[in-house]
Amino acid sequence: MPNPAQATIDPIVVGNDAFSRLASYCVERYPDLPITLIADTRTVSAAGNEVARVLTRAGRTVRSIILRGDNLHADELGLARVLTASPYGPSLFVAVGSGTITDITRYVSFRLGQPFVSVPTASSVDGFASIGSPLVIEGVKRTHAGQTPRAIFADSTVIAAAPAILTASGFGDLLGKITSIADWRLGRLIRDEPFDEAIAARATAAVDRCVAQVDAIGRREPQAVETLFHALTDTGLCMIEFGESRPASGAEHHISHFWEMAMLRLGMATALHGMQVGIATAIVAGFYQQLRGLTAANVSRLLADRIPLGEHPQEAEIRAAYGPLADTIIRDHAEYLEFSANEQTMIAERVVERWDEVLEIAHTVPGPEEVKSLLTKAGAPVDPALLNLPPDQLAAGIRRAHYLRTRFTSAKLCHMLGLLETV
Ligand SMILES: [Zn+2]
Repeated sequence: MPNPAQATIDPIVVGNDAFSRLASYCVERYPDLPITLIADTRTVSAAGNEVARVLTRAGRTVRSIILRGDNLHADELGLARVLTASPYGPSLFVAVGSGTITDITRYVSFRLGQPFVSVPTASSVDGFASIGSPLVIEGVKRTHAGQTPRAIFADSTVIAAAPAILTASGFGDLLGKITSIADWRLGRLIRDEPFDEAIAARATAAVDRCVAQVDAIGRREPQAVETLFHALTDTGLCMIEFGESRPASGAEHHISHFWEMAMLRLGMATALHGMQVGIATAIVAGFYQQLRGLTAANVSRLLADRIPLGEHPQEAEIRAAYGPLADTIIRDHAEYLEFSANEQTMIAERVVERWDEVLEIAHTVPGPEEVKSLLTKAGAPVDPALLNLPPDQLAAGIRRAHYLRTRFTSAKLCHMLGLLETV
C-alpha cells in the first residue's frame, strides 16, 4: 500500500511527452493557478523556455524567475532571491532544473503554502522525489522541512542531453546507497536504530539495476539514463516512505556534507553533490574493507584502549575541524558526546558480541577499488584531490564528518576502534 506522501507524487513521468503531459496536468489539476517557473541560466535554455512555451500555449499565465550566476546554492541567498521575486498569493511553482533549483523551489513554495511540481533536467541526484529540503543555513548543511513535488515530469531527451558530469554525478549519488544501506544495517545492529528490510531491499535493487548498466550510463545512452533517473527517484521514494534519509544517506553523505560546508566557508565553488558522494563512497568502502580485516579478538583489543564515542576531548577535535561552526555541531551532537561510561561500555560490548554480524554487513560492500572502477566507467571522478580542497579539510571530512549526525555508521565504528586516524 503506498504511503500518503508517495501517493501525492502523481504522476511521475519520464518520457518524450513529458512537457505536454505537464501542460495537461496543470490545466486539469490547477486550472486557476498562475504558474511561477524557476530555472537558472542553463536550465532555462535546456528546458525552461520550452516548458514556458508549452504552458503558455495551453493558456496558462507563466511568470519566470531565472537565477543568474554559476555558483548557485540552496542557502540564504538562493532562497532570498527566489522568495523576493515570487508573486504574492496563490501560484503553482514549477522547478526546472537539477538539485539546487528543485531544493530552493521546494522550500520557498512550502513556506509560501503553495504547491510545486518538478521538471528535472538531469539524472544528477536523488532529491527530486523528496520531502525534505537540504539547505545550508549559517554554514551548516541540514535537512529542513519541505514538501514533495505534486508531480514529476522528466523529458527523456533533456535528461539524456544533460552534461555528462551531471549524469555521472547521479551515478555517484546512487552508488552511495551501497554504503548508506550498510551503515543503516550497522545502526540497527549496534544501536537498535529504526530499520525497514523491505525498503532496504528496494533501495539495493535500484542500485543493482544501474550497476548492471554502468557502461551504458557512461555512454549516456538514453535508456540507461532513464534507468538511472528511475533508480534515483525510487531511492528518493524510499526515504519518503521511511520518513528519514537513512535508506539513502550514510557516512558517505556526511563526508560530502562536511566537504561542501568547507568549500562554502572557504569561498570556493562547490563540487556537484553526487560527484562528492561518489568519491566519499570509495573512502567509506575503505572503512568496510578495514573492518573486514579484523577478528572479534582484534576488535576487543582495539576497544580496550578505544577512542570513546562520547567524552570531553572530542570537543577539541570538533573545534579544530569545524572552526566557527563548532558550537552548533557540539550542541547537535550532545546525545553522543554525553554518553556515560556505562553506555560506552555497553556499545563496545555489543560490537564485540555481534562482530560476526558486523562482518556480514561489511561483506555487502565492494572494495574501494571496485567502487572506483564503477565510478570511472560511469565517467565520474574518483580522486579527492579534484575537489580542490586543502588537504587538511579533505582529511577532516574523512575523520570528523561523523560528528554531523547522531547515527551509528561505519565512520562511528572506525572512530571507536581508532582506525580513522590512519586513513
Ligand atoms: Zn545524495
